[in-house]
This record gives sequence, C-alpha cells and structure tokens, in this order.
Amino acid sequence: MTARPIAVVGASAAGLAAAETLRRSGWRGPLTLIGEEPHLPYDRPPLSKQLLHGAWEPETLRLRTEEQLAPLDLDLRLGTRATGLDVATRTLTLDGTERLACAGIVIATGVAARTLPGADRLTGVHTLRTLDDALALRGRLTKGGTPAGEGVAGGGGTRQLVIVGNGVLGCEAAAVARELGHEVTVVGIEETPMAAAVGTDVGTLLAEEHRARGVRLLTGAVDGFDSTPADP
Ligand SMILES: Cc1cc2nc3c(=O)[nH]c(=O)nc-3n(C[C@H](O)[C@H](O)[C@H](O)COP(=O)(O)OP(=O)(O)OC[C@H]3O[C@@H](n4cnc5c(N)ncnc54)[C@H](O)[C@@H]3O)c2cc1C
Repeated sequence: MTARPIAVVGASAAGLAAAETLRRSGWRGPLTLIGEEPHLPYDRPPLSKQLLHGAWEPETLRLRTEEQLAPLDLDLRLGTRATGLDVATRTLTLDGTERLACAGIVIATGVAARTLPGADRLTGVHTLRTLDDALALRGRLTKGGTPAGEGVAGGGGTRQLVIVGNGVLGCEAAAVARELGHEVTVVGIEETPMAAAVGTDVGTLLAEEHRARGVRLLTGAVDGFDSTPADP
C-alpha cells in the first residue's frame, strides 16, 4: 500500500514553514504542498512596495529557490485548489475531482481579500493580495496611466487612482502610485489612516506626510461600485 502523505494546504509563508518543520521534526514520508497560485512560495510584503513600484521583479520575492526546496522532497502541487475536506477519512478533494487520502493535513490557507459589490461589472478595478494582482496593478501604473473611462480610474489620460482601504497596505500602495506620478485618493473607514496598525500619533504624522506629497485622504465607508453613468 502506498504511504499516505501529510498534505499542507497553502503554499505561502506558513505552508512552507510547516513543510520545513515537518521535515526537520523527522517526517520522512510523502509530503504534499498544495497551492492555489501557480507560483513557488513568495514573500507578500514587497507586493505593495518594491514589486508594485517596479524596483523588484517577481524572482526577488521567492522565499526559497528550487534548489533550496529540493531537499524537502515535496510533491509540489501548484495551481491546485483544495476544494473539500472529509475530516473523518482525512481525505482532501483537489480541484473538485481528485481525492487525496492523507496521513495528516495542515491548513495554511491565509486570508483572502474582500471585494466590493459591483467590482466585477467594471474594468480597471484591482485587488491587491497576490503576485498576479500586484503585477496587474503595476502594469496599469507603469504603462502610461489609465485608459479613459475605466472603473476606479478617471479618463482623458489623467492618471487617477482611488484606493479603497486606508490601512497600511492602502497607504503603501498610495505612496508608490504617487511616487510614480499618479493622482491618488485614499478612502477608508479609519479616522486616522493606518491608526489600527501604528496608533493615532504616528498615523497622524504619516497622514500629514501623505498630504504633503499630494495624496488626497478621505474618511468613509465604500459600499460598492455603481456602474450606471451619472446624470449630466
Ligand atoms: C500586499 C501585501 C503587503 C503586505 N505587507 C506586509 C508587511 O509589510 N509586513 C507584514 O508583517 N505583513 C505584510 N503582509 C501580510 C503578510 O504577507 C501575511 O501575513 C502573510 O502572507 C501570511 O502568510 P500565510 O502563509 O499565513 O498566508 P497567505 O500568504 O495568505 O497564503 C495563503 C496561501 O494559501 C493559498 N490557498 C488559499 N486557499 C487555498 C485552497 N483552498 N487550496 C490551495 N491553496 C489555497 C493562497 O492562494 C495563498 O497562496 C502583507 C500582505 C499583502 C497582501
């Protein structure tokens, strides 16, 4: 009988750390690392900073090279989504069809970005969570601005970007976009941007810095996008 693997679901920082820890702790059996994204495990923090800016390329973000991964002897299943789990039999369903009976399962699936109602009916609305998200947004910010009439952005060749969310990631992306020469508005529910992460005093200083560099900061909740044309 083929030995059952330990399967780690989620091939990012936590999933990779779990796989390495399993090997270090003596698991010699099959080890399967399952990741929905097609990429080798990568570091997410630079997505809203160096990668978005264009200073770094995707290879720089890799948490391990293929050579570094080789000793782990992983059954690496990238581009594969775990879609079900039967806890009683420790069986995963992959991509809705394949069944994988496991000796043990680690769930390291992280978090997903919230999207806003109406976003799917518009072009030019980006989410910033994955490498592919960041590359898509970078493509819009570094290739001559925004085409007319697209979603979050204004038309007529002006480069206007509205960022929904005034926490750390939104403000980081705002700083990058501003540095790249775009007109940037940040909207979010925090009275002081980033205050939840850095406190009100530092948040106030950072907000002043953003304003001084021309970022428009608005406080408010965004409920969704209305794709119907406004009355003249
Ligand atoms: C743009 C950005 C900037 C950030 N900047 C910072 C920072 O400056 N400092 C900081 O401390 N933190 C930062 N973070 C947060 C940090 O990246 C996360 O805390 C970290 O990525 C969490 O790692 P994780 O492995 O737990 O989850 P994640 O990185 O979310 O990875 C989970 C993985 O599981 C996969 N997955 C999910 N469901 C399934 C499924 N059903 N089947 C298969 N695979 C699945 C996902 O595709 C994903 O690749 C940032 C995050 C983002 C998005």
